[in-house]
Amino acid sequence: MKKVVIVGAGFAGLHIFYKLRHLIGKKIDITVIDVRSHSLLKPSLPEVAFEGAPISHSLIELRHTIESKGAAFIEDSVINIDAKNNSLTLKNSDKVEYDYIFLTLGAVKNYDAIKGFREFGYSVCDDTQAQRLYNRIKTFQGGKIVTGAAKSTWGTRVDAPPLKAPCEGPIGEVMFMFDHYLGRDKGFKRSKDYTIDVFTPGEVFFEDVGDKPRNAIAQFMQKQDMTLHNNKLLIEIGKDFIAFEDGTKMECDLAIIIPPYTAPKVLLDSKLGDEKGFIPTDTQMRHLDFANVFAAGDITALAQPKLGHVAIIQGGIAAATLLKELGENIEIPAHNLEVFCIMNMGGNEAALIASDVLYGGSKDIVSYSPISKMMKWGFDNYLYYNKGHMPPDLALEATDKLVDIL
Ligand SMILES: Cc1cc2nc3c(=O)[nH]c(=O)nc-3n(C[C@H](O)[C@H](O)[C@H](O)COP(=O)(O)OP(=O)(O)OC[C@H]3O[C@@H](n4cnc5c(N)ncnc54)[C@H](O)[C@@H]3O)c2cc1C
Repeated sequence: MKKVVIVGAGFAGLHIFYKLRHLIGKKIDITVIDVRSHSLLKPSLPEVAFEGAPISHSLIELRHTIESKGAAFIEDSVINIDAKNNSLTLKNSDKVEYDYIFLTLGAVKNYDAIKGFREFGYSVCDDTQAQRLYNRIKTFQGGKIVTGAAKSTWGTRVDAPPLKAPCEGPIGEVMFMFDHYLGRDKGFKRSKDYTIDVFTPGEVFFEDVGDKPRNAIAQFMQKQDMTLHNNKLLIEIGKDFIAFEDGTKMECDLAIIIPPYTAPKVLLDSKLGDEKGFIPTDTQMRHLDFANVFAAGDITALAQPKLGHVAIIQGGIAAATLLKELGENIEIPAHNLEVFCIMNMGGNEAALIASDVLYGGSKDIVSYSPISKMMKWGFDNYLYYNKGHMPPDLALEATDKLVDIL
């Protein structure tokens, strides 16, 4: 029996687990390790912050989910990985040995890289921040709102699009959902009671998609009196301002940001990452230097942008690569990435974006309708009630067809 360890039970880790589980007890033992007791469904966090959705609906309990399928679960932090000796160390000092390891630790949201964030800044990127923002919004009496992503930097070992922001979809949700809440629920008037300024570190906002989605978003922003500022590298948030590297400042009563994404310390310490700590893999998600180490999701250098959809594609590839190595009759999917997300815009409104322009393709779709909102609702609920299990391939293929029709 081969020992398989999965470190990190987020989108990628759970997807890999479900793809491998039919071999548990036959060819493999699986141990899943996560520092959290519950996996966090981050796409639902804007609903927590702006609609008061219960955080429990974004959390998947891990121990029972994993152990009921015949695998082991360890709730602890991995602090070192000795890839030369196939062994890792937990914070409690225990060592775990493996034949194969999947590294699916996600990226660190580095709030502390932004001066003043802890005192004056807000975010939607994790459960603590989303709930903190919800409490702030409840008492917001109007003023100047500024939102945007800080610049992230990536290594150079693999060939991936060097995006300046990890993913700007959540910023789209922040600006549209907040506008909806203030206008429709609180009866505030745009320009008079509040303004929304949006900044991006990129040359353009939504640099990971093509012109169609980008123009549609620009039109919505114009209609809703939002102002966009390009090429802005966030450095500081103060009590009533937000400051950028070019020396400019904006007045700001409420700053909601995506912080820079960085690699977990364990990967830097274990020398498994590229110069920025993100894991370099080939397109079958195998580590470039260690044949029994696989990775998928936000932590890989190839994942640009950092998106759940990309984590799922890569998780499927990584699992298939190991299954094939274990003698299973399976085809390894091609590493064909695309941007696919449904941006909640508040109320019944949502925009579905599907684009592979970033990777040289010609798909560039945006669909704005209540159907998009229903799809998001259906997908988020499916994941929650099925403990992070993706819908069956048949349903995903039907979704692709629906997207083409839209
Ligand atoms: C607000 C927000 C909204 C988003 N909306 C969308 C969306 O609508 N659609 C979409 O496709 N994507 C969306 N994303 C992106 C998506 O959530 C991520 O791309 C996805 O979660 C990445 O999955 P992952 O498995 O790589 O990492 P994660 O989901 O971050 O999981 C990593 C896991 O590893 C664990 N871990 C980390 N370090 C250690 C350690 N040292 N030891 C043990 N365990 C560890 C963590 O606890 C975590 O459970 C959104 C992101 C945010 C922040």
